[in-house]
This record gives sequence, C-alpha cells and structure tokens, in this order.
Amino acid sequence: MRSGKLIRYGLVAAVVLLVGIGLWQTRRGARRGAAVLVREPARVMGTTCTLTAVPGPEGVASAEAALRDAEAALRAVEARMSVWIAGSEISRFNQAPAGEDVALSADTLEVLRAARRGAVQTRGAFDVTCGPLIELWRRAGSLDRLPTEAELAGARAASSWRLVHLDEDGARKDSGEARVDLGGIAKGYGTDRAVESLRRAGVEAGVVDVGGDLRCFGHPPDKDRWPVDIRDPFRPGTIGALLVGDAAVCTSGNYARFAVIEGKRYSHIIDPRTGSPAEAAPSVTVVAPTAMAADMWATALSVLGREGLPLLPAGMEALLVLGTPEEPRIVCTPGAVELLEASFAAHVEVHRPSE
Ligand code: AMP
Ligand code: MG
Repeated sequence: MRSGKLIRYGLVAAVVLLVGIGLWQTRRGARRGAAVLVREPARVMGTTCTLTAVPGPEGVASAEAALRDAEAALRAVEARMSVWIAGSEISRFNQAPAGEDVALSADTLEVLRAARRGAVQTRGAFDVTCGPLIELWRRAGSLDRLPTEAELAGARAASSWRLVHLDEDGARKDSGEARVDLGGIAKGYGTDRAVESLRRAGVEAGVVDVGGDLRCFGHPPDKDRWPVDIRDPFRPGTIGALLVGDAAVCTSGNYARFAVIEGKRYSHIIDPRTGSPAEAAPSVTVVAPTAMAADMWATALSVLGREGLPLLPAGMEALLVLGTPEEPRIVCTPGAVELLEASFAAHVEVHRPSE
C-alpha cells in the first residue's frame, strides 16, 4: 500500500516534469526549443503547488535538483508554521499555558515580527493573533451555527497582540486562550524562501505558485514578462491577466475558501475590528516585491476594502473586485493598470491617491 502510493507519486512527478517542458509553449504559444521545467508536488500548505524553472548555465539536472530543494523549503515552512500540524512550532505555542517561554526558530520569529509590523501598518486589519476568532468561525462553519454573543466576546478578548510577546528566541503569552494563526502570511514567506532557493542554485527564471499565490523572477524564455491570470470571484473563469517580471502576486478571495452558516456565505478572513468575517471585497489581488508582503496585504485589503488602498506601501499595487455577481466593479491602483493585459485595462476604475 505504502510503496504503491510512493510509486504512484513518483510516476506523477515524472510525468509532470516531462509534460512541463512543453507547458509555456502550449499555454502562450510561440516558443521552440528551450526547456522549461515544471514540478507539481502533491499538496503543499493544504493546496496545489506548481514550481517552474528556466534552467541557467548549470543545466537541466541542476535545475531539477533546485526544484526539489524549493519544494523542501516550502514544506519546511509548513512544518514549522501550520496550525494544522500538531507538532508545528505554532501549534506548540498555541497549546502552551500562559507565561511559558516557547522556543521558536528564527524563521517563525521572522514571520511573527513581520506580522506584528503588519498589524500596525494595516491599522489592525491584519492580525495573526486573531486565532481564537478564526477558530470560532471555523467551528461555526462546521456546526452550521452562528457563534453566540458570549462566544464572540470571549474570542475577541483572547485575540490581541497585547497577549503575545516575542523575544530573541521564542514567544510567550499572557493568556492560555491566546493563539496565533499564520494562514494569511506563511504561504507568502514559504514562497519567498523557495524563490531564494531556486536563485541560489543558479536557476535563471521561474515561478513558485502555491494555490494561485505566486512569485516570479526573471522572464519566460519567449516573453519579457510572466502572465498571471486573475480569477473571477463570481463565476468560473478569469477577469483579466497581469504581466509581471520580478514580483509576487497574491489573491485573497471568498470564492476559494468560505463557510456557509445558516444559509449565508462567510469569508474565511476575519475583520478584527468587529470579530466577524470580512465583507469588504469579494477578491483582492496584490502585487509586491515579496510574496510575504503580497500575501499579508491581500488579506488586509479584504478586510479594509477600497478604504485601505491609501495605506498600501510604495512599490505595491492592488486590484480589487467589488460589487455583486450582477454588477461587478474592478478598482485598481494606477500602477496595477500598467501591469494589466491591455484588453482588460479598459474595464477597470482607477483609484487615484487623493480619493
Ligand atoms: P489569505 O487566504 O492569505 O487571505 O489568508 C486567510 C487566512 O488568514 C485565514 O484562513 C486565517 O487563517 C488567517 N486570517 C483570517 N483573518 C485574518 C486577519 N484579519 N489577519 C491575519 N490573518 C487572518
Ligand atoms: Mg494572505
């Protein structure tokens, strides 16, 4: 049974690598000859994963090894930071009693520190200490029952950076109830680590795509930028495509992950200001220099909506899909319009900084 499974995975990986060599040709046409390697590991961070590499002077075998190392980098981040893995550092921290010093790796502390800075930058919209609220709404989804006022008040009181303290080599909390959830940022961090690993190995260009959140570097062999489709949150298909070079593109939306409670659909993103699921934007796409920043801001703007655009740091762009399935509206920062494929740019509303 186990070896059967291994053989099956092995075969899938081999087929994917071979098929991948032709991928960009089939998707965008035009190119002949140059090899593009694609690796599609089974389920990483709870989602699909596609790693693409344009081999550098070191050659194909070296690029294949680099892809394996990039996958390992993603899995290492998942093993440390996932709330779904019982022995992860974050799970150990969440289970610890008040006052206990929990040792954490430099990587996990780096993400927690970035998240703490993010909470300030986003005026509290991005808040990884919302673990108790996230768990409460997740449970409400599986029980199909809205939380009671008392449950909400309890979870809100336990969701705060005031209860979580980071030090040099670990963290501690003031309440046994406090919990952190890195689901809105760790995928981006892992993607950055995977890209670093590909670059270090001499890969010339590539894409690390984890469930549609991705970071590109260099350019495809036949084009000067990578095409990145943006899904339509209201119906199957896309609403447009961005063309990017060295950049990360992350999308948060309620089309992919949501709960239906008592007949109403709720986002998996919590608005820390109210303690309830966010409703500001059906889909938010952020383009940033790092995937960690793009991941964090996509989650934050899902809470803040259009009002949050003035907070977006320089060098980052956003595209929001607002409105309803009957009347969708696309709002973009001026820089995002520049990145849109020309045929889509005509349909968007540009948010000017003064608005
Ligand atoms: P994303 O799909 O990147 O927007 O991340 C969503 C995930 O982030 C959720 O499933 C939660 O694990 C976590 N999350 C939910 N709300 C927030 C929030 N306001 N700030 C930070 N993380 C959140
Ligand atoms: Mg995110």
